[in-house]
Amino acid sequence: MRDDDRMMDLPEEFGSGIVGVCDICGVRQAVIILRQERYKLCVLDFLNKTWLKSDKKPGAPAPLYRSERVWFPTDAATTGKAPAILLTPTKVVRHPVLLITPDVYGITTTLLDAAIRFARDGYEVMIPDVAKTDGIGAAHHVALRTGARIRGGIPMRSGRVVDLLHLYTDALAYLRGREMVDPAKSALFGASYGASLALMLASQDTKLTAVALAYPQPVAPPDLAKLVTAPIVFVGGSRDGVAKKSWEQIRSSGRPASARAEHIELAGVRHDFLARDLSAYAVGPAESAWTQVQSFLKQLLLPPPPKPPAPPGLKTAPPSPPPTAAPPPKAAAGPTPRTGPAPSRPSSPTA
Ligand SMILES: [Zn+2]
Repeated sequence: MRDDDRMMDLPEEFGSGIVGVCDICGVRQAVIILRQERYKLCVLDFLNKTWLKSDKKPGAPAPLYRSERVWFPTDAATTGKAPAILLTPTKVVRHPVLLITPDVYGITTTLLDAAIRFARDGYEVMIPDVAKTDGIGAAHHVALRTGARIRGGIPMRSGRVVDLLHLYTDALAYLRGREMVDPAKSALFGASYGASLALMLASQDTKLTAVALAYPQPVAPPDLAKLVTAPIVFVGGSRDGVAKKSWEQIRSSGRPASARAEHIELAGVRHDFLARDLSAYAVGPAESAWTQVQSFLKQLLLPPPPKPPAPPGLKTAPPSPPPTAAPPPKAAAGPTPRTGPAPSRPSSPTA
């Protein structure tokens, strides 16, 4: 059983989970923070109520953000409302918003990891809990998978995909309407199938400030990205054929030259390399990818207060060199990155 599967079986009243070190058993995994008791607990220690008779001190520090379960109105759910987890920075300033668009599995370890990083950076972050949303289920799972496998891309116009986009459109409207947010600054993040949904949502919403995609699945129509006006940051592994195909769709979609898209290719890693609970996980490249995605979003959504205007001749260059450029330096192992020198050969983790 995976951490995120365990997370989804939790009784709803007990707050939300993050990735951290359990205060009782000391193992890094998906944990729940008991806000009152200040314990961070893995699911087993939580269910066994181990902390009640423990002499271990609670370790959870005063949080940079609060987390809560909310319900937002949507007629994409049969009951007219859908659950989500919301992370709100405790600092009293207006926060930019960041919507995470899950795959039908709902709130996985990767998405919690992302949500926590973004909340710490100062975004109001929402993850719709699709796995617990009435009316979203196995048929949606099948629609995404068969579309990707048989039709060469997730079909944006399939009814089930439309349902999910409808749900996320309503989630974004709810998030932008929260108190203490800056609705003019909004971003999306998704991984794999969820990243494809983020791209689709971005093609319908021109008010977005940025879109962050981790190894999306290809989409249909393939040139969908030409409708995305927000800057895109894309991370994928050099050994991930799915992500390469998706990046190729975006690169060749005919987006205007002014539309920014940054391709971050991590050398030697596969699909799902951000997922702590899967075998493809690679800590060095994952940390490097997160750092670059967070920095990209920060530039656009959390700029430092005094900012000198950019010199006129120095506009942001696209990440790919022109096709006539010299071939990239030879990679040590694995296929050579297609779009230029690997921008992010991560330094070995030392922490
Ligand atoms: Zn534990």
